[in-house]
Amino acid sequence: MVTTAPAHTPESSADFVPFCDEEIRALEYRRRIPGGDWSEENIYLKKSTRPGWWKNANNPPLKGIMDIFSLWHVRTGVIRKGIQTGGTQACYNLLAREADYSNGNDNALVVMADEKSVKKHGVNRLRPLFECSPNLAAIMSPNPDDTTAYTMRLLSGFRIDVGWATSEVSVASESYRVIIIDEISKFSNVQNIDEIKGRATTHEDTKKLLFLSSPDMSGTDPLQAEEASCDVTFDFWPVCPDCGEAQPMLWDNFTWPKQNSLLPGGKEDHPHPGEVRRLHLARYACRHCGVLWDNHAKNRAVTLAMARPPYSGWIPRQEVARFSSFAVIYPGWLSPFVSLSECVAKWIEAQNELKETGRDDKVKKWTNTVAGEYYAREAIGAVTTEHLLRYKSDLPRNLVPPDTCFLGLLADTQQSSFYYEVWAYGFAPAYKMHMVRHGIVEKFIDLEGLILSEEFKDHNGLIHRIGPGLLDSGGTRRGYQKHSRTVEVYEWCSQHRQIIPIKGLSGRTGEMISYKEITTYPGTNKPIPGGLKRANLRVDLFKDELERRLGIEPDDPGALSYHDGIDSDFAKHYTAETKDESGTWIHNRKHRNDYWDCNNYAVALLEMMRLRIPRIDTQEPPGRKIRNSGVQ
Ligand SMILES: [Zn+2]
Repeated sequence: MVTTAPAHTPESSADFVPFCDEEIRALEYRRRIPGGDWSEENIYLKKSTRPGWWKNANNPPLKGIMDIFSLWHVRTGVIRKGIQTGGTQACYNLLAREADYSNGNDNALVVMADEKSVKKHGVNRLRPLFECSPNLAAIMSPNPDDTTAYTMRLLSGFRIDVGWATSEVSVASESYRVIIIDEISKFSNVQNIDEIKGRATTHEDTKKLLFLSSPDMSGTDPLQAEEASCDVTFDFWPVCPDCGEAQPMLWDNFTWPKQNSLLPGGKEDHPHPGEVRRLHLARYACRHCGVLWDNHAKNRAVTLAMARPPYSGWIPRQEVARFSSFAVIYPGWLSPFVSLSECVAKWIEAQNELKETGRDDKVKKWTNTVAGEYYAREAIGAVTTEHLLRYKSDLPRNLVPPDTCFLGLLADTQQSSFYYEVWAYGFAPAYKMHMVRHGIVEKFIDLEGLILSEEFKDHNGLIHRIGPGLLDSGGTRRGYQKHSRTVEVYEWCSQHRQIIPIKGLSGRTGEMISYKEITTYPGTNKPIPGGLKRANLRVDLFKDELERRLGIEPDDPGALSYHDGIDSDFAKHYTAETKDESGTWIHNRKHRNDYWDCNNYAVALLEMMRLRIPRIDTQEPPGRKIRNSGVQ
């Protein structure tokens, strides 16, 4: 007889022990799909410019970013973005994806720039994303205590902590597998960033770090450092709807009416920014066929990029196999939410501000938030126009500041005029320097008027007159001016002995200031009546000193100050000289540098007078109405 094992059949359904939902989720084989596709399946947005289920077609560049970040070999992603690009939302999608796939053995940390951002966004930004997306809502803990302003604990045990750079959660030693640093460019302390990144070291092979921000200043932006350390950098290449050629979208190819007036000889005369916006005047010229894209064509070009390999639009600058870190650059104009005309209008506004006030705030903002580029101030001199204007005081022109020891005149000799500055020097030991006046005069007699008859008053009505001064004996420094004014300068100085003729010497070795007896007029045997002392100045050393003093914050001791009438035309003189690699100051010929020269003489005059300036505690006797220190 053959016995057969009884068939393994359940007696009744009561023998089953059903799995609970969590067990099913844990046992379920889950194929991990890329971030872009995952978002379309799982993300539902209630509060958005495009509410509803997430559609990659609404913002094509984000799909590629999310897909690249979710590649198995990628550990670090860096997103440099303009505003209105949706980059932050993509990061939250990626965070939600990590949370969704997590088995609860790890945690995530989101770090924002400061406490304020956390209070404003924090979990408040994540919560609706989870609540509105059905699949994510299913993994939220029903216990309200598990979702606070700073923490979100999911059913799986996966926890999302939100903190800021110096918050407890960021500096604690707990480890996180997923770390997102938002607005990393605003982080002032790079050490904090390293500490935060250090939280992930226990997950070396599985960690996911994501840094995103609009960029800031070139050279100091922590985003730039993260970007530089990436294995590969991607640019988005839209595809021209007309010729089908892919290309990175560069600012140089933007165009609008009257823009050609920027060409040499043309007037810089842009349309009104409001007109650009209203009439949608901006276009983008295809780099291959020259066809002008309007906004619609631009958006189409961005979408078309998804239809050809690598089907994301993101083209690596170099081919790197199995890269573990990557950076993407997402300028604002690629975003479907940003119009070409908005980019151009903002650019014109920024240029207008620069032209009218010398301030580059808007230019910087445009560069950072529209172009998505780091901002580097044009390296044209020791100082920028904007920087110099920070030293503008609210003292009106000609008003002498309190506690002034003497006034000095500094003049730069041109072929047909003199640029001059009048500086007020304070007592020792502070030696405050304030420029009370500047200008151009045509003739020696005008200089004479300044020193002989001009009276300057302080707040108390006390009258000051110009005391010592320095007058450039030059006009010959460039060697090509045949009729040097040196003779005239010597002649005039011999009659006005408080003004010393000066000559600039190159190089940094030798005395800062040396004096030379001049007995005859140059090129002749004609004696100068009474002889003359000329001061030779190592100008580069004084320029270094002026540069140093212009590095002092305006409200700190030792800072220079200027009367309230200085403007960008004045300040431009200070941007005209730059140091070469050997440290020699060179005139860049873009702007005149005469006031910069005068200011250098002002620094030199202080050096010459320093030992004769009394201390503040040795005040002049009361009753003296005119202070005229003179010079020997
Ligand atoms: Zn084309």
